Amino acid sequence: MLLAHDLHKTYANVAVVRGVELTLETGEVLGLLGPNGAGKSTTVGMLYGMVIPTRGFVCLDHLDIHTQGSLARRQIGVVTQEDNLDPDLNVYENLICFARHYRLVGREAKHRAAEVLEQVNLLGREKAKVEELSGGLKRRLVLARALLNNPKMVFLDEPTTGLDPDARQDFWKLVTQLRQAGRGVLLTTHYMEEAERLCDRLLLMQQGQIVDQGTPAALIERVVGREVLEVEGIPRERVETLAERGGVWWRPFSSGFLMVLPAVDPQSFFHRVEDEQPSRLLRRKANLEDVFLRLTGEELHSAQATPPSRESGYGIPGGRAAPRCGGERHPAD
Ligand code: ADP
Repeated sequence: MLLAHDLHKTYANVAVVRGVELTLETGEVLGLLGPNGAGKSTTVGMLYGMVIPTRGFVCLDHLDIHTQGSLARRQIGVVTQEDNLDPDLNVYENLICFARHYRLVGREAKHRAAEVLEQVNLLGREKAKVEELSGGLKRRLVLARALLNNPKMVFLDEPTTGLDPDARQDFWKLVTQLRQAGRGVLLTTHYMEEAERLCDRLLLMQQGQIVDQGTPAALIERVVGREVLEVEGIPRERVETLAERGGVWWRPFSSGFLMVLPAVDPQSFFHRVEDEQPSRLLRRKANLEDVFLRLTGEELHSAQATPPSRESGYGIPGGRAAPRCGGERHPAD
């Protein structure tokens, strides 16, 4: 359905996307996960033809998105980060007006508007003004608008940023329905829970590059393991020694440390850490946040991507992560 090859984007000599390759199948939800500034929106913009790549190409349903843009764009729907709805029009008018972009008018437009309103559970709100809608309802209306042309592929660029947890979950249900209806979905997010719940496959992005990819479960298991400990109140040297003896990976995390529990006899390791009498000790399942931390040295919700220093003992040579077991140091330390 979608193929991108060697995508690059440079703004004023700054390379913000560097060599992205991806494919997406029909009925698949592909997630692009990374911290703010990683290059996700720029990549998505290139995928749906809004941003012209400095190098590389994108094919959507066998059409080149740049040379056959108008044909290709008939197959796609886009939900951008901004709501960009017309505040002077009500819900229904917003849809009817937008339908003209797809040459849908008259009865056909009314019919499609009713269909998409039903799809996103907005029936009964037709007459509401945009400003009367909550953030979650506005997002649903933007999605309804993106579905007017019955697209094969939907791009969702951080669709739930700023929504409360309930509205976010409502939106997730709609994304699941899109997948069930056989559409391809490309989703960018910096919410790991969203990525873990919704995506069949994930591309992890940092500083313009894909640093790893796989299903959420496989990525977690391969890069981190099953379980981790969040530990506070133990000196760093003790953490280092414990981890070395256990042959496990650790990293400074939040106000303490993150340690992976070994696959063999995790209980004994847990007790050894417990014996150190930490002020806080949490044993939990490993998650995508941990994957990101291990691969990039960044926490997903860091405001800005800060490159790990090469002198620090680990790094991302050529942009790829080079994780290894043992006491890898955080650049800030
Ligand atoms: P993300 O979606 O992962 O937060 P973006 O793709 O929005 O990342 O941005 C990646 C980098 O590219 C950022 O440093 C951003 O400032 C820069 N950038 C994005 N768009 C432009 C633009 N039009 N001109 C200059 N720099 C840009």
